[in-house]
Amino acid sequence: MRKVYLDHSATTPVRPEVVEVMNQYLTNNFGNASSVHSFGREARKGLETAREQIANLIKAQPEEIFFTSGGTEADNMAIIGTAFANQKKGKHIITTQIEHHAVLETCHHLEKLGFEVTYLPVDKNALVSVEKVKEAIRDDTILISMMHANNEVGTIQPVKEVGALAKEKGIVFHVDAVQSFGKLPIDVNEMNIDLLSASSHKIYGPKGIGCLFLRKGTKVEPLMFGGAQERKRRPGTENVPAIVGFGLAAELAGKEMAQENERLTKLRDKLIQGILEKIPHVQLNGHPTQRLANNVNVSFHYVEGESLLLMLDMKGIAASSGSACTSGSLDPSHVLLAMGISHEIAHGSLRMTLGKVNTEEDIDYCLEVLPDIVAKLRSMSPLYNSGKIEN
Ligand SMILES: *Cc1c(COP(=O)(O)O)cnc(C)c1O
Repeated sequence: MRKVYLDHSATTPVRPEVVEVMNQYLTNNFGNASSVHSFGREARKGLETAREQIANLIKAQPEEIFFTSGGTEADNMAIIGTAFANQKKGKHIITTQIEHHAVLETCHHLEKLGFEVTYLPVDKNALVSVEKVKEAIRDDTILISMMHANNEVGTIQPVKEVGALAKEKGIVFHVDAVQSFGKLPIDVNEMNIDLLSASSHKIYGPKGIGCLFLRKGTKVEPLMFGGAQERKRRPGTENVPAIVGFGLAAELAGKEMAQENERLTKLRDKLIQGILEKIPHVQLNGHPTQRLANNVNVSFHYVEGESLLLMLDMKGIAASSGSACTSGSLDPSHVLLAMGISHEIAHGSLRMTLGKVNTEEDIDYCLEVLPDIVAKLRSMSPLYNSGKIEN
């Protein structure tokens, strides 16, 4: 049976070049980067090369990159760290309703500690309005945290405009760029970003490693203590093999970005058009054009998303319903609900995120299998068969 992986926003396979360089740092160059001997110096060299590779991709300085265990930790470090460092100035934070749980739940935690958080609404395409950000700013606002591209529906936010606004008002600006890092051009200076979260396993690097870009002069309290690593902001012996792998993955993503985006956009649009043409009662979720090149998110009316996933899995197709984190719970995606989509329609949503391994044949296979599955599920739906639906 054909196996088609369409869940690249959940995670990606580690690319062979990355495996190769990681292997070197797991075996020959195994030293502790803090050791002064040659083994330590080799490890340190790998670490600093990775810092440069990552800084280059977002036009930052290498000393502004701090390695973390991933996107979640970077989000926590940025938001809690900024809140604690600025609480004398104010206790108000602005974010959006469609953030990843790593941001939302961190903000909920801060609310319990006495901070106030405004969760901005979005429009039907999941876009945040710059005007709404402006209106939400108060004298005691210390942080704006907004994602660059949404992990569920792929909508790309007006980060540059919000960055300009934050700078004008002297507010720290954090961007969760886990879904855009290596996929969209990012210039932290042009976009006035003070803090940016990125993760390795979404760009064909290993899991459990990521980083926080921390603009020079931006105050962030550390969350952990116990060593001088990462200039005391993130103590603990560095995971050098993972860091080196992340660095190379970032460099290669940058080199291949334009070409890969062009290829994926074609595949994405073919998949979207095919679905809309072949299957009745279906809607595209997310912005029609301002969206990631690899994201397809659709809702099939009168279909239950989880059943759809199981039937696709039986045909070798790996996709997701809403975000991987909400799968398994019965609550529909908070992102789809924020976009004004009803519970029923949100329950019938399917996310397919393309990547390097996907070909046109994968899309053809998907378009061959999907209409039958949807038809089969609808034939079992009492609502669909109640005679109220016109085809
Ligand atoms: C995956 C993801 C994260 C979490 O990153 P991890 O490295 O898995 O912790 C955070 N934000 C967004 C938008 C993501 O897609």
